[in-house]
Amino acid sequence: MSRFWSPIVETLSPYVPGEQPRVPGLVKLNTNESPFGPSPRAIAAMQAEAGDSLRLYPDPQALALRQALADYHGVKVENVFVGNGSDEVLAHVFAALLKRQRPLRFPDVTYSFYPTYCRLFDIASEIVPLDGKMRVRVADYVAGGPVIVANPNAPTGIALSRKEIARLLRANLDEPVVIDEAYVDFGGETAIPLIADYPNLLVVQTMSKSRGLAGLRVGYGIGDAALIQGLTRVKDSFNSYPLNRIAQAGAAASVADEAYFQKTRAAIIESRQAMVEGLTRLGFDVLPSAANFVFARHAARSGAEIAQALRERAVLVRRFDQPRIADHLRITVGSPDQVERLLAAAEEILQG
Ligand code: PMP
Repeated sequence: MSRFWSPIVETLSPYVPGEQPRVPGLVKLNTNESPFGPSPRAIAAMQAEAGDSLRLYPDPQALALRQALADYHGVKVENVFVGNGSDEVLAHVFAALLKRQRPLRFPDVTYSFYPTYCRLFDIASEIVPLDGKMRVRVADYVAGGPVIVANPNAPTGIALSRKEIARLLRANLDEPVVIDEAYVDFGGETAIPLIADYPNLLVVQTMSKSRGLAGLRVGYGIGDAALIQGLTRVKDSFNSYPLNRIAQAGAAASVADEAYFQKTRAAIIESRQAMVEGLTRLGFDVLPSAANFVFARHAARSGAEIAQALRERAVLVRRFDQPRIADHLRITVGSPDQVERLLAAAEEILQG
């Protein structure tokens, strides 16, 4: 607290990111990073950019990267907005699109940055509970204010089909609907093809998960050109250069390496299967995941107890101390070796 703070500062409730400890040999399954590095072509492109050109400011419009993303997703460059991680894209989305007459709706269990942005931008919210199976029920979002839904949802990992998203859009034609697809590449269906029919739809994706580039900070939004113009006005009132030269070059090269993307994405999905089977065998109740993490609860032991015991065995997972989910663990899908170490540690804990 300081008397020099602007009044709003005291009212904020900042997002708490997962820990990034530097412990050798740690099995780090707490922040949904990829166990694989970025595409070698992305690394080469970033190395090539790390030179004299850094004298110069980057392209403020990130045209080459936006064109690469537009081509990849079958849209036009004016349908693509890029930012410093999808968190920054989301921040601009909240400021540019989601402050409306009626409160913004989102599930009680979802990405905890949404309520944080509501405080920062003074946006009223209406929390809509997930159903008994921890699913988003589209019927609960009929006729009301704007909507933001993570699909697959986080931390549950459960996905809605594109058909269900279309239903959500049809029920809310006069309000912006934002679909946060941070994890869509691991088994979800993207809503991007719907932007042609729904000018109220904005889809947000990231390079942090399926492209192994969490450290580079690149995210993007895809939607009707008028939505992108609104976002760009906000971005250009905040920071002309959110993506540096290295980030723009690396991200574009990653998009161009389809083979690497498919290979690593498939490996994570396969690893997830082994992880779900192993956890289920150990007595965990695992929600059906379309993401690069699973959300699991043990029938007999508390989430806090298991998380702590895993930590003592150098396995880091994420737990959210909040209603409904305090006994769940969100466990990132690691490499086969990491999954083995997780399961061995869990087995030891549960036998003790
Ligand atoms: N949306 C969701 C649902 C997430 O879980 C995350 C990762 N914490 C993000 C967005 C932000 O990812 P990034 O800023 O790394 O793109």
